[in-house]
Amino acid sequence: MSEALVNKIIPFSNVDGPGNRTAVFLQGCNLNCLYCHNPETINICNNCGKCVTGCPADALEISNGRVIWDSDKCINCDTCIKVCPNSSTPKVKKYSVKEVMKIILEYKNFISGITFSGGECTLNHQFIVEVFKEVHKYGLTCFVDTNGFLDFENLPELVKNTDKFMLDIKAWDSSEHIKLTGKDNNIIKKNLEYLIKLDKIYEIRTVVVPEILDNENSVVNVSEILSGTEIQYKLIKFRKNGVRLNLINVDMATDSYMEKLKNRAIEIGVKKVVIT
Ligand code: SF4
Ligand code: SF4
Repeated sequence: MSEALVNKIIPFSNVDGPGNRTAVFLQGCNLNCLYCHNPETINICNNCGKCVTGCPADALEISNGRVIWDSDKCINCDTCIKVCPNSSTPKVKKYSVKEVMKIILEYKNFISGITFSGGECTLNHQFIVEVFKEVHKYGLTCFVDTNGFLDFENLPELVKNTDKFMLDIKAWDSSEHIKLTGKDNNIIKKNLEYLIKLDKIYEIRTVVVPEILDNENSVVNVSEILSGTEIQYKLIKFRKNGVRLNLINVDMATDSYMEKLKNRAIEIGVKKVVIT
């Protein structure tokens, strides 16, 4: 059975798909977005040890060259995350499928499903498939929140065992996407078309950042593809909470600008548009 590094598990979430869901956040990402609001999930800890001495609760130690985190002692001050030079955290735990299932089953009577997120959870696609096969036995739905940067045509088991995906379209223009994430978006656009054909998308998400992105261009292009479908389009206002302000320090979009983008999407034919 597979194992994965888990950053956190939120027992009850109503922002990670429809209904009340248990959300499992996996560590590690294959993009490096300027506006990432949880940049400590991007890299796997390299055990450099730089965070250990600053821990005020004595919750970190180095043993055999590895940083060990004691969750019982941790007071969640996040000092370790603030000092980490590697966009990482020592506060992760390796879980087996059985261990994650044990937690999910504690909540199964109170949730409609589970959602894997991250980081980029699909980097652990084998682990997700194994968990989803178990979760489906209990009649719960299985969702994946993804940046879409792996080619899903090459991951048939993941696609088959996932009820619906929530896919980020961060920017439509390729050069803008590279500027924002460090990578091109060709595969993401291919996945968008592929998953729509299979009726596997619940929601598309675009973060609106007025000063650095051509948000209207992205909204128009995405809306033309979503027009007439039942897929929800979520427009997310960029917020400064948790972001690396040395990389991005721009103003939030105004409410009227968000409404303007929403109306543009509706005019083009998107049936469900949500602003957050
Ligand atoms: S959040 Fe990090 S620094 Fe703070 S108590 Fe926990 S392990 Fe120590
Ligand atoms: S969490 Fe960051 S600072 Fe701490 S040991 Fe890992 S890489 Fe180093």
